[in-house]
Amino acid sequence: MEYEAVIGLEVHAQVLTNSKMFCGCSADYANATPNTHLCPVCLGLPGSLPVVNQRATELIALTGLALNCRINPTNIISRKQYFYVDLPSNYQRTQYEEPICSAGWVMIEVGGEQRRIGITRAHMEEDTGKLQHAADGSLIDYNRAGVPLMEIVSEPDIRTPEEARLYLQKMRQILVWIAVNSGNLEDGAFRCDANVSVRPRGSTTFGTKVEVKNMNSFRNVERALHAEIERQSKLLAAGGTVVQETRGWDEARGTTVGQRSKEQAHDYRYFPEPDIPPIQLSPEWIETRQAALPVLPDERRQRFVTDYGLSAQDASLLTDERVVADYYEQAVAAAPEQTPKAIANWMTGELFRLLNDTGEPLDAASERVPPTMIAELLNLLKDGTLTGPVAKQVFEETFRTGQPPAVIVATKGLRQISDTSAISELARSAVAVNPKAVAEYKAGKSQAIKFLVGQVMKASKGQANPKLAEQALAEVLAE
Ligand code: ADP
Ligand code: ZN
Ligand code: MG
Repeated sequence: MEYEAVIGLEVHAQVLTNSKMFCGCSADYANATPNTHLCPVCLGLPGSLPVVNQRATELIALTGLALNCRINPTNIISRKQYFYVDLPSNYQRTQYEEPICSAGWVMIEVGGEQRRIGITRAHMEEDTGKLQHAADGSLIDYNRAGVPLMEIVSEPDIRTPEEARLYLQKMRQILVWIAVNSGNLEDGAFRCDANVSVRPRGSTTFGTKVEVKNMNSFRNVERALHAEIERQSKLLAAGGTVVQETRGWDEARGTTVGQRSKEQAHDYRYFPEPDIPPIQLSPEWIETRQAALPVLPDERRQRFVTDYGLSAQDASLLTDERVVADYYEQAVAAAPEQTPKAIANWMTGELFRLLNDTGEPLDAASERVPPTMIAELLNLLKDGTLTGPVAKQVFEETFRTGQPPAVIVATKGLRQISDTSAISELARSAVAVNPKAVAEYKAGKSQAIKFLVGQVMKASKGQANPKLAEQALAEVLAE
C-alpha cells in the first residue's frame, strides 16, 4: 500500500520588541548576564500585576494581516498551567479559545505551481526561560521568560517534507520582511514543531498524528519529517497502529524518538487570566495596522518582473529580503541612464558574490556601499571610462573601503586606455613575443587574434579598450 503524509506546522516566533510581553523588563535576553532581566511579573510572583505590551499586540496583528487572517476585536489572555522549571509562574500566559488572528493563508510555490496553505490561527503568548544542560546538572536563565511570542498554527494542508520546508521559509521571509521577527533559527527566535500523520493514498480521513519537536533548521525539519513518515508507514504496513505522542528529532541517529504521550487541552486547566482585562481592538485600530502593512515579497517580485522586465529568477533573488529589494529600487532610481536589468545583473553577480565571500548582510554593507555607488560604477562602465574587468576590480575596492568608484579611478589611474598610439605600442610587443599565435593567425586561424587581445589586456592590467586593441593588432599583423 502507498501512504500519503498529512502535515500541520506550529511556528513559535519571538516578536521584536524592546520589552517583555507583560512587564517592562528588557526582552534582549541574548546579550545579557543570565537572570538579570527579571521582575515580579515575569517571575510570576503573587501580587504582581501584568500589563499588555502594546507594541507586541500591534506586531502580532500586523503578522495576522500579512497572513490574510481575520483580526479578533476582543482578546482574552489565558493561563495555561503546567509544571516545568522553565516556567517560573507555573503557568504560561497565552490565548486559548479566540486567538488574535484566525483563518488566513500563505502561498507557496511547489515545482512551479502555487499551493495555498491555510493558517488556522496565530495567537499571542509569552516565552519560557532557557535551560542549559551540562554533565553535572542543568542551568536555568529566566531572562527569556516573558519575551513576546506568537504561535502560528497551520491547517493540515501540507503533504510533503519539501512543502513543509517551503512553508517555513515563506513564513520566515514574511515575518522578517515586516520586521516582527529576527528570523534566527539558531538562537531559537523562530522555532517549529511538526504534526504529521500518514494515510493510505486516496483516503479522505486523517490518521493519528505525532508531534515532532527539537528541529533547529529547515533541513532538519525536512529530514525529521521524512524519517517520521517512513516510520509511520512501515508501522501501518506491518499491521501496527500509530500512537498519538510527542517525539523528538535525534539528528545524530537520523530518527525521531518517543518522548511523552501527547497531553490534551483539558490537562492544562486553561482559564482566563484574572489580572488582564480583555484587550479590545477597534476597527480603526485594525485599519491603521492594515495601512502599515508593506507590499509583501510575492507582490514585490511580481512587480519587479512587470515593471523592470527582470527574469523570474532575478526577481526572486532581489526580493528574498526587503533590504535587498529596497536597495535595488534605490539603485534603479539613482541610475536613470542604466537599464534595470543591468543593475540587477551587477547586484546578483558582483555584489552578491562579495557579500557571500564576507558573509556580511547587505544592510551592514550598504553603509559603505550605498546604492548610488552601484549607479556611479555602472555609469563609468557605460561611458567608457572603465573596461569590464577594471570595473569589477574597482567595485571590489569600493566594497572593501567604501571609497566612491570615481575616487578610486582617479587616484589609481584606472581609466580605460583609448589612446591609439599607446595601444599600438602594446599590440606591437604582443606580436613580438608571441610568434606561435602570430604564425597561427597568418596560417588562417583568425581566432588566434583573441589570444593576442588577451595578452594586450593583460599587459595593460585590463585597462586597454578591447575593441581598439583588436583593431591595432589586426593592423600590426597586416604589416
Ligand atoms: P492539538 O490539540 O494536538 O494541539 P490541533 O488540532 O490544535 O492539535 O492541531 C495542531 C497541529 O496539528 C495543526 O497544525 C494541525 O494542522 C495539525 N494536525 C491536526 N490533525 C492532524 C493530522 N491528523 N495529521 C497531521 N497534522 C494534523
Ligand atoms: Zn519582568
Ligand atoms: Mg492545538
